[in-house]
Amino acid sequence: MGSFNRQVALPTLHQKGSLIAPIFYEVLGVEVIEIAIDTDQFGTFAGDIERSRSPLDSAKAKARLALEVSGLDAAVASEGSIGPDFEIPFVTSDVETLVYLDKREGVEIDESFKSFDILALLHTFEGRHGLEEFLVKADFPRHQLIVKCMGPDGLLVEKGIKERAHLEYVIKRFQDLKTGDEITIESDLRAHASPTRQKNIKAVAKILAQRIASRCPICNKSGFGRRSWKRGLFCSDCGGFNEEAIRSEYLNCPSCEYRHEGKVINASIEARHCIFCNP
Ligand SMILES: [Zn+2]
Ligand SMILES: [Zn+2]
Repeated sequence: MGSFNRQVALPTLHQKGSLIAPIFYEVLGVEVIEIAIDTDQFGTFAGDIERSRSPLDSAKAKARLALEVSGLDAAVASEGSIGPDFEIPFVTSDVETLVYLDKREGVEIDESFKSFDILALLHTFEGRHGLEEFLVKADFPRHQLIVKCMGPDGLLVEKGIKERAHLEYVIKRFQDLKTGDEITIESDLRAHASPTRQKNIKAVAKILAQRIASRCPICNKSGFGRRSWKRGLFCSDCGGFNEEAIRSEYLNCPSCEYRHEGKVINASIEARHCIFCNP
């Protein structure tokens, strides 16, 4: 083989290449090359470096830096956002955002994928009590852990714990060093440390690769696909017009503004979703 038609830079220190490269090769025939950039400067899951931008802006910033550092003319960068879901209360979700920048074609394409299948657990260490149960729930050591506590000079953080002996050593050391009263143990959500997150990154990589492969019928540039919704439906019961209800998808070109109406999602709205029948 070795018939790559292009190279695409991927900024990561967390082995995202093994997740994204096979999919990009299969769908696009391009070679994804890991560029060792300290992406932690854009914020971390462990909270030791705060995230100040939106996930999309942060992914774009990483991609631009990868273009600069690698000298290549295309880059793909990923950003995950894991926490309480915006729509469903008390449920944790993982929103994975992936951005593709192509200087040759002058296009920027992004996709995101939300999954509720993400192991993101937190345990407050109070002696042995509940520890074994937590480790089983947290799927340790398949999923790695982070241990944190307040120390004399600020937050102490040990990441990437994947062995029992290492975990015991860190707990013991933090017990001696801690200035506050809590030691917390939590899921390490970095890509190489979390198999559930890896699955979600692969899913978004597939969606993005297919989007890149899809070309605009007018200008032939890549990235043609769903960008927005056409809204407005009549209720099948009362006939009232519900302006927020999704009718169909709009397919857009990111380059030439061409768009056309895609698949119809709903032809009418049911009474139980109608703002007049069911206010
Ligand atoms: Zn109605
Ligand atoms: Zn176009």
